[in-house]
Amino acid sequence: MTIEELREQIRGRVVEPGQPQYDDARRVYNALHDRRPSLIVQAATAADVMATVGYARDRELPLAVRGGAHSIAGFSTCDDGVVLDLGAMTGIQVDPERREARAEPGVTWGDFNQTTHAFGLATTGGIVSTTGIAGLTLGGGMGHLARRCGLTCDNLISADVVLADGSLVTCSDTENPDLFWALRGGGGNFGVVTSFKYRLHAVADILGGPTFYPLDADVVRGYLDLMADAPDELNVILGLVLGPPVPFLPEEWHGRPMCALITCWSGPEGEDEQIRKRLAAVGPVAGQFLERMPYPVVNTLFDELLPAGLRHYWKGCFHDTLTKEAIDAHVSYAATLPTIQTATLVFPIDGASHRVGRHETAFSYRDASYSVAFGATWSDPADDDANIAWSRAYDDAVRRFGMGGGYVNFSSDDDHVQVQANYRENYRALAQVKQQYDPANLFRLNQNITPWA
Ligand code: FAD
Repeated sequence: MTIEELREQIRGRVVEPGQPQYDDARRVYNALHDRRPSLIVQAATAADVMATVGYARDRELPLAVRGGAHSIAGFSTCDDGVVLDLGAMTGIQVDPERREARAEPGVTWGDFNQTTHAFGLATTGGIVSTTGIAGLTLGGGMGHLARRCGLTCDNLISADVVLADGSLVTCSDTENPDLFWALRGGGGNFGVVTSFKYRLHAVADILGGPTFYPLDADVVRGYLDLMADAPDELNVILGLVLGPPVPFLPEEWHGRPMCALITCWSGPEGEDEQIRKRLAAVGPVAGQFLERMPYPVVNTLFDELLPAGLRHYWKGCFHDTLTKEAIDAHVSYAATLPTIQTATLVFPIDGASHRVGRHETAFSYRDASYSVAFGATWSDPADDDANIAWSRAYDDAVRRFGMGGGYVNFSSDDDHVQVQANYRENYRALAQVKQQYDPANLFRLNQNITPWA
């Protein structure tokens, strides 16, 4: 197929270098990845996806697949290859009777939450509203409802996928179950998802927001105690942060290292007071914004802090237990956070996420208790080396206390060396599914699982 033939087939837009919209079209969320693709297809339909996959495959061009463009590792762009941008495919349909939603791959969590909230329904999604549903779901998906509803991928009912051979298939527990298993944690390795169908839960208003304490290992231990007997409706993400300049935090704390307990209580409103008391018992509270709010709002609280165009270099690890040594290591790096946007985030993995078996989906750390994201976020390219070095040193310091691999969605591009560790015993089966659905490894711009030879 020539580029002219591709252009004729596509209902969306084809953008090439030299066109006025090229620079906008090639830009991704993480400004560290400033790449120049030879072609950007802004797909409008599944047929556009099929045609673009065929074009890249036949010309043996690198193919980067983009949903919400939030890949920290920069996998949703490339140099001298094809970017398949699904950002214009933003349809969402809710079936309130069955408590299900079908969403296209360009949908962000902000759009998704607003739409399902109209029916008093929600599912686990990312904690920043501009993140895409696609990449987050395929890597696993952690968020404010994970203890109550499971990981995002646990709520996937089925998916429509364009395979490397250009065909479109549906997968679910009963149709192409091997592909469905692999998609739930295995990332974008197996094809291009053109439609996700999710299970929804009755979640309307919640008690949410951050509570700030001084940075102290005792506060971290207080957080672990809180989570040890917390009901599933109580999700608290621990942040090690610099105090933000917000009105509810006294000025003396602005810019100082702190612990933040980012709470989402989706249980009965009558128990809000008890939740407040439990948070107050964790340590000396320096400031708090904890209010009843619609569920979508708790997922927008950090949007302003994290606009597109910053530079990010993140790492991730899993802990089964957070030992004294592990806590000390995280706390000592949190005392040196380089910028206000840089944070360590500790996501609990338990409750409903633990009720899914370790081999039931490709997500391979069901026996972990915490997934930690850390690493720098900054704005000036002149600070690239220093921030990357800081993040790597942090990684070196904490990795020995972790369980081996990390969460693929919190990884950077140089983490491909640990892909097997990210999937542990599931790796072999994933490589076999890869061999069946993408033997030539067309979908390789990701935490890549190589086909089983
Ligand atoms: P994209 O960059 O568009 O895609 C990432 C990769 O996913 C692509 O390279 C491709 O390999 C694959 N992919 C995307 N779309 C498709 C598709 N339709 N079919 C097949 N493969 C596809 N993670 C969490 O779990 N919880 C969080 O709360 C969370 N918060 C975050 C907040 C911020 C500010 C950022 C930057 C990231 C956060 N993440 C979180 C990590 C997030 O899950 C990943 O960055 C994820 O890849 C984002 O998905 P996306 O569609 O926006 O990204």
